[in-house]
Amino acid sequence: MDRRSFLVLLLAGCADPAPNLLPAVSPLPAAPTPQSPAPVVAPTQSGDPGFDAWASAFYGRAVQAGLPSALLDRELAGLVPDPRVTSLDSRQPEFAKPFGDYIKGAVSEDRIAIGQRKRAELSALMTPIEDRYGVSADVVMGIWAMETGFGAVMGSFDVLRCMATLAAEGRRQQFAEDQLMAALKIIGSGEFPRSQLFGSWAGAMGQTQFIPTTFLSTAVDGDGDGKRDIWGSSADALASAANLLAKGGWARGQTWAHEVTVPDGFDYGLTEGPRDTPDWWAGLGVRRADGLPWITADQGAKAMLIAPSGASGPKFLLLPNHFVIRKYNNATTYALGVGLLADRFAGAGPLIQAWPYETALSLADRITAQQALAALGFDPGAADGVVGVNTRSALRAWQKTRGLTADGYLSIQMVGLLKAEVPSAGPPPQAVPAPTPSPVG
Ligand code: CA
Repeated sequence: MDRRSFLVLLLAGCADPAPNLLPAVSPLPAAPTPQSPAPVVAPTQSGDPGFDAWASAFYGRAVQAGLPSALLDRELAGLVPDPRVTSLDSRQPEFAKPFGDYIKGAVSEDRIAIGQRKRAELSALMTPIEDRYGVSADVVMGIWAMETGFGAVMGSFDVLRCMATLAAEGRRQQFAEDQLMAALKIIGSGEFPRSQLFGSWAGAMGQTQFIPTTFLSTAVDGDGDGKRDIWGSSADALASAANLLAKGGWARGQTWAHEVTVPDGFDYGLTEGPRDTPDWWAGLGVRRADGLPWITADQGAKAMLIAPSGASGPKFLLLPNHFVIRKYNNATTYALGVGLLADRFAGAGPLIQAWPYETALSLADRITAQQALAALGFDPGAADGVVGVNTRSALRAWQKTRGLTADGYLSIQMVGLLKAEVPSAGPPPQAVPAPTPSPVG
């Protein structure tokens, strides 16, 4: 699974391209790179001057960080950037996939059937994992399903080469160099050779897709053979994922969310808002959609209400464990997909409220809505086409003042209303890709 959104968040504070592994030699803030013992001849001879210059500078930083030069000489020799990584890193889908479409794809009947079968087959493995780490085995299975289709699709990229490519590119240099150094540490320690460190273009490895730093800090040996083989051993991969959730603060015995209903006239301005106990929400008329009472373990937990595809779609009370799943990938869609799969593996039925029909919004639609909200005095954050918490919050405030249901859901209807209020909103025409001509039209 793509964890770009998570990485972008992670790197939001790392805009300074100068690596912070070394003390600066010059007090001038504009010093381009710290001086370091770079080799006279570039450690790579890729034919790409930018890449080779980065490799020389990285070599010095890696030696300073304690990596042996023999290891660096061996692993950097012959390294060339991977153009597929550059291309995948810069892609920007024109249309945002609607929330319900994403969930319907992620929580498919095929995947549920495989998960239920595997859950039964692996009970002798999963029960001890659940006991030891105190996390839900079904949620661990949900992660396994979402990340690699139960270990079927782990990615075949050379992670070391991918991280070198991203680091040289510069946009995410600190992240990529951290991962590269971690990969080199794994190789240098003799734990695994480079040929084993394969994964996604973004550096996620093995059946539960750990980036190299997470591998070093969190992977465990689940089957007791002395190796943390997250590629070849499902026991190791699943125990490692469980360890990650435990370290992330999983609350033992609590669930991750409940589908809920709200009464007529409910104030949707409370979505993505306060966190309070299920009983507090019940005081506002919020009920479990299946009609069952709250479970005892959940009663003291602070829950947040969401309506991710608006007032006409399913609503959920998110318990703290939802936010623990997001340590894996900080997207509501991802965590909801994992949790709903887990519920189905455990025998729950489908959602009671169906996902509504949603129109995919183009980048121009999203930017138009953000610019209109800003022009009207609401603050959606940067007009970047990313509909995040700030945009939804501004939308709720605008909806409230217009007497609309304040669910913060940017539908095509809301885009139309905003555009009508601010006809000048929207990106300049040349910034919007031309539609593909229709062969019949
Ligand atoms: Ca093992």
